[in-house]
Amino acid sequence: MTQPVDITKAVVQPVSDELLYRKNVAIDVLRLDLIHPVISGNKWFKLKYHLQEALQQNKKGILTFGGAWSNHLVATALACAQANLASIGIIRGERPAVLSDTLQEVQDYAMQLRFISRDKYANEAAIIPELQDMFTDYYIVPQGGQSHLGVLGAAEIARLTQIESYSHICCAAGTGTMLAGLVHAALPQQQVIGISSLKIPDDENNSLNSFVRPYASNPKQYAIFYDYHFGGYARKTDELISFMNSTYQQHELPTDFVYTGKLLFGVKHLVQTDYFQPGSRLLLVHSGGLQGNRSLPAGTLTYL
Ligand SMILES: *Cc1c(COP(=O)(O)O)cnc(C)c1O
Repeated sequence: MTQPVDITKAVVQPVSDELLYRKNVAIDVLRLDLIHPVISGNKWFKLKYHLQEALQQNKKGILTFGGAWSNHLVATALACAQANLASIGIIRGERPAVLSDTLQEVQDYAMQLRFISRDKYANEAAIIPELQDMFTDYYIVPQGGQSHLGVLGAAEIARLTQIESYSHICCAAGTGTMLAGLVHAALPQQQVIGISSLKIPDDENNSLNSFVRPYASNPKQYAIFYDYHFGGYARKTDELISFMNSTYQQHELPTDFVYTGKLLFGVKHLVQTDYFQPGSRLLLVHSGGLQGNRSLPAGTLTYL
């Protein structure tokens, strides 16, 4: 399988800022958003071993799940097309009268869309065996690539940098697959910080902790923060939007409102409140997702 992305484009962008100078904290941003215009960010890493597996098992294609503006679906659709695999996207809810830009785009990459009622989709675990029976020649990639193979792919993100030079590695967390991969790759003395984009309780046994913990070599190896979801998954406030616009203006860093905008906001707040000791060196993973900003009304962001 040839690699569709260009990982040499994943530059490390240092951020200089009065706050960071004053707190003696350094931040570098790993620009995974630049590796491909469509198969962007962390999605390629989470997908690559699933794709390999589908090809090895001689499957006809990949079946996976996503929402109307899913970064995962669009990346999967094009990666499959380029690997000569068919693809099916399962979407929760009724087919809307007008498809989102993202769903139109996945169809351009020959992904077949199937809409499943919310009642049925409520229990993803239950529908998977049913779908597998219906589509025996398709390899099923769970929502967000969340599986051990997804974690192993995500762990390779750490190899794109001089990872040992950082005290902390920070990323956004949806399913926690990327977070688990970075925890898996981290050195024992490093801490991986996850900023939850979901509104979930800060609980030892929540979905993120349950998934990520087995990959940690010690309890301090990762920390998840839950106060930066801005109302919940794919929710936003004017404060977040204006933070994203000023981040772009000041640092030439475009962010998405679902994940990376919240990541940067959260990390900045942690710096302001002295979570990081002076001398800390942070790597922030820009995990892509900019295509999702198309769901915002025109003019919301000063960039796109
Ligand atoms: C999918 C996605 C995430 C979440 O990754 P998980 O592995 O599900 O936690 C984070 N950032 C961006 C931009 C994404 O598209």
